[in-house]
Amino acid sequence: MINGLSEIELGTQWPALFINKEIMPYLTSSTKKVLKIASWIINFSPLFSRFKTFNMLNYEEKRKWLSKIKGESLTYNMINLLEFLLSAVYYVNQENAVKINYKREPYILPSHEIIQSTTLSVPLKVLNKKYDVIIVGSGAGGAVAAWNFARKGYNVAIFEIGPEPTREEFLNEHPVYRALKYYWDNGVTFTWGSPIIDVPFGRVLGGTVTLNSGTMFRIPDEALLNWKKETGANIRNDELNLAYKIVEDKLSVKSIPQYLLGNNALVMKEGAEKLGLHHYPVKRPLGSCHGMGECAFGCPYDGKLDMRLTFLREAVEYGASIFTNAEVKKIIINNGKAQGVLVSINGTNVIVEAKVIIVSAGAINTPKLLRISGVKNSNIGKHLHIHPAAGVTALMNYRIEGWKGTMQSYCVDNLLKEFHTLLLATFPPPGIGYSAGSLPFSELDKYPYLASIGVQTSDDSEGNIFGRRIAGIATYNVKEHDVEKIKEGIILASEILLAAGAIKIFLPIKKLNSITNILDVNNILKNTKLKSFKLSAYHPMSTARMSADQDSGVVDVDGKVYGVSNLYVADASILPSTTYVNPQLTINALSFLISEKIIKGMS
Ligand SMILES: Cc1cc2nc3c(=O)[nH]c(=O)nc-3n(C[C@H](O)[C@H](O)[C@H](O)COP(=O)(O)OP(=O)(O)OC[C@H]3O[C@@H](n4cnc5c(N)ncnc54)[C@H](O)[C@@H]3O)c2cc1C
Repeated sequence: MINGLSEIELGTQWPALFINKEIMPYLTSSTKKVLKIASWIINFSPLFSRFKTFNMLNYEEKRKWLSKIKGESLTYNMINLLEFLLSAVYYVNQENAVKINYKREPYILPSHEIIQSTTLSVPLKVLNKKYDVIIVGSGAGGAVAAWNFARKGYNVAIFEIGPEPTREEFLNEHPVYRALKYYWDNGVTFTWGSPIIDVPFGRVLGGTVTLNSGTMFRIPDEALLNWKKETGANIRNDELNLAYKIVEDKLSVKSIPQYLLGNNALVMKEGAEKLGLHHYPVKRPLGSCHGMGECAFGCPYDGKLDMRLTFLREAVEYGASIFTNAEVKKIIINNGKAQGVLVSINGTNVIVEAKVIIVSAGAINTPKLLRISGVKNSNIGKHLHIHPAAGVTALMNYRIEGWKGTMQSYCVDNLLKEFHTLLLATFPPPGIGYSAGSLPFSELDKYPYLASIGVQTSDDSEGNIFGRRIAGIATYNVKEHDVEKIKEGIILASEILLAAGAIKIFLPIKKLNSITNILDVNNILKNTKLKSFKLSAYHPMSTARMSADQDSGVVDVDGKVYGVSNLYVADASILPSTTYVNPQLTINALSFLISEKIIKGMS
C-alpha cells in the first residue's frame, strides 16, 4: 500500500508538495532538479492508463491509480523519494509530533562534561600561498591525517567544502533541518539501478562522521584476507592493530553502557536471548551522550566525539588551519608531480601550493576530483561498494519509545561469518529513515510501540561513480547473491522481533502490508522481486582502491596515487574491498598509517 502520508496529501497537486515554504530554502539546486523530474514522472504516468495526468485525477481516481502501481516501477520509486522528504517534514510539525507522542528531549542526564564549543575554522585572509601538506576534506580520513602531520610540526591546511556547524544549531534545530543542511544535496543522493538505493553522505566539517551513528568495529581478519585476494593489497595485521589502538584511545571508544542503550536495544536483546543468538552492546566514541537518539544528524551534546571534537580540534591546537566552505576544484599536476590545488573559498578562487597533497573527499567525491585533475587510471570511480541495508520494523505489544537512547546501540552478529551481514538495533528520529515510514497513517498513534532493526550486508556487487553531474551519484545493481544475504538478515531480524513479542512485522518491501508470523516472512521474501526491496546504504567505499599494482587499483599500499609522486588518498575510497562491518574506524586507522609513511619519507 501507499504510505499514509501520501494518502493525506492526495488532495493536493503534486508540484505543490515541493513548494513547502519550510523546506524550500534548504534545498540545493540539484535536489530541486531531482524533485522536478520526480514530479514530472508522477504527474504524467497516469496518462498511459487513465488518459489524464495525476493532477487531473480526482481524489478517488488518485487513490485507485496509486493502489495499482507496481512497487518496482520507476513511478513508485519517485513517490518514495518524495515521501522521504514529506515524512521528514511532517513530524517537525508540533501537532503531528504530539499525535505520535514524540518529544525531543534528552533521555538521560550527562555523566561527563560537555566539551567547550570553539570555532575551528579560520577566514580566507589568513591563507598562505604554500603549505607542507594540503588535505582535501575533513572527515574520517582527512581529520586523522591532518592531526598526525600537525602534531609532528608540519604546516597543514585543510580545505572542507561544507560549513562548520555551531553547537546551538545542533541543540536548537530539529534533526530534520540538520539533515537537510548537512547532508550532501539534502540527503537526496542515490544510486541508479536495481533497486534505486539512497546513499546519504556528509557535507560538513568533520565529514560524514559528524552525522554518522558512531558504531565502531575493527574489521575481521577474513576481510583483510579478502582485500589481499582482490587487489594484492597486503595490510599487516600488527600495524593495523596498532593504528586501531591509537584511534580508539583518541576517540574514547567504549561499549555503550546499559543506561544509554534505550528500549529499542532491549527488544533486540530480549529476542536474541530467547533465540540463543550472540548479542552485545556496540562500541562507540563515548563522550557526553544524553541518549537523544539523533546521532545521524549531529549530536547536540557532543556525545559522539566526532572528528571535530577530537582529531581536528587537536590538529588546530598544533597549528593546522581549517578553511570551511572551501571547495577544491582541481589538483594541479605537472609532469607527474602535484603542485597545489585550485580552491574556491566562499566563492573566491585561489591557487595554493604544497609539498604533499592528500585527497580525503570521500568515496563519491574523491574519484571525481582525481578525474577532473587529469589522473589517468581505469579503476577511478569503479568497484563502488556500499553495504546495502534494510530496516525491519515491528509493532510490539508494549511501549518502547524507540527514539530514546543511543540511536544505534546493540548488535547480533550470528550472520557475520557466513553472510557478512550484521544486525544492528537502530531507531532514528520520527520520519527519517526506516523507523516511521512503514506505519500506516491510520495507526500513527502506535508509533511509541515500534521497534526496529537494521540489516546491513557486505556487498559483492559493484557500482560506478558517474563522471558528469546528473541526478544520482552512481550506477549500482544488487547481485542475486547479495539479495540472498539481505534476505537472511531480514528473516533473522523478524525472528528476533517476534521472539521479543512483536504483534506485526513491517518488512522493507514496497507496497507490502504488515505480517504476523515467520512463515509469511519466508514466503513473501521468496516471491519478492529485487526491485521491490526498500534499500538504503551508508558506507560507500573502494572507488580509488588500494592495490599491489596499478592495473587493479588507483593507489599503492602507502596510499600514493599511481603515476603522481606526491599525491595521496586517505579516505573510504582506498578500501580495497568491503570491510564486512562499519568502516569508520578502519578508515581512521588506514589514514594514520598512510600519514606515518609519508612523514617517514619526508624526514
Ligand atoms: C547515516 C550514516 C551513518 C553511519 N554510521 C556509521 C557507523 O555507525 N559506523 C561507521 O563506521 N560508519 C558509519 N557511517 C559511514 C562513515 O561515516 C563513513 O564511512 C566515513 O565517514 C567516510 O569517511 P571519508 O573520510 O571517506 O569521507 P567523509 O567522512 O564523508 O569526509 C569527506 C569530506 O570531504 C568533503 N569534500 C568532498 N569534496 C570536497 C572538495 N572538492 N573540496 C573540499 N572538501 C570536499 C566532504 O564535505 C566531507 O566533509 C555512516 C554513514 C552515514 C551516512
